[in-house]
Amino acid sequence: MSLLVVGSVALDTVRTPHGRIEEGLGGSATYFSVAAGMFRPVRLVAVVGEDFPGRHVRFLVSRGVDVRGLERAAGRTFRWTGEYTGDMNQAETLRTELNVFASFRPKIPDAYRKSRDVFLANIDPDLQAEVLDQMVNPRLVGCDTMNYWIESKRSAVKKLLRRVHFLLVNEAEARQLAGEENLIKAARALLRMGPGAVVVKRGEYGALLFRECSMCWVPAYPLECVRDPTGAGDSFAGGFMGYLSRCRAVGEREMRKALAFGSVLASFCVEGFSLRRLGRVRAEELHARYRTFRELTRF
Ligand code: AMP
Repeated sequence: MSLLVVGSVALDTVRTPHGRIEEGLGGSATYFSVAAGMFRPVRLVAVVGEDFPGRHVRFLVSRGVDVRGLERAAGRTFRWTGEYTGDMNQAETLRTELNVFASFRPKIPDAYRKSRDVFLANIDPDLQAEVLDQMVNPRLVGCDTMNYWIESKRSAVKKLLRRVHFLLVNEAEARQLAGEENLIKAARALLRMGPGAVVVKRGEYGALLFRECSMCWVPAYPLECVRDPTGAGDSFAGGFMGYLSRCRAVGEREMRKALAFGSVLASFCVEGFSLRRLGRVRAEELHARYRTFRELTRF
């Protein structure tokens, strides 16, 4: 009974209308593992450089993240610089320094190969496939991708989709990958490519879950102040997969609840820069917000 994530661990420099952070802890696998870690310890597979601060590793361990798969390579850690101006749903990437991430070939430690559930955060689709090749019969496989891979490696992304149960993408990526403007038609096209369920994340407009014969929508949790949206999508995925990973059987009911937990964890993420808020969430707070969310959407 375990959940493994492969993705980026980064040092992010981010500016939003509410402030700025210089080289804060970030990365898709970081946000995912801290969010999913609210439900169960997560096994993290990623790479950092020699300059990665030890305090970030200690922080991850303090949130129950298993860091045996966090490789430390010679060189500098992956860095991402982004900015949000008027539209808080869309980051503008100012700079990407791949550094040690450029030659990352995920090696799954023997002790991790039988992990029951797997999340392939946004990395090269060929590497995502290599990760799956190293796993022994996972129960649930979720994956994310991004516009860069959809443009440059479309066939690898499509090939991967035949091997996953859940695809979690944002709205623009769903349209781009499906080649279809209408979101419902796009989701149907994505379902035909392989996954049993497609989750389309729509920032402040919530998220949609599409399956062959059902559809579900959850709003974003309403907040007075969104400080930094970085990592919201990965925190959403962490809440979604983390909750499902704790369920013995995974059906419509569990997926709907998972969608709500995704929304709630994303809401904590955006309340602070980097992991400042998400990294401090207590179990009672999570469940209290989940209950409020249920009340807000009941009619
Ligand atoms: P999100 O806001 O959920 O889409 O994810 C933001 C996180 O993705 C940031 O913490 C970045 O460090 C990380 N990131 C940005 N660009 C890339 C990339 N090309 N590959 C992997 N991770 C990235």
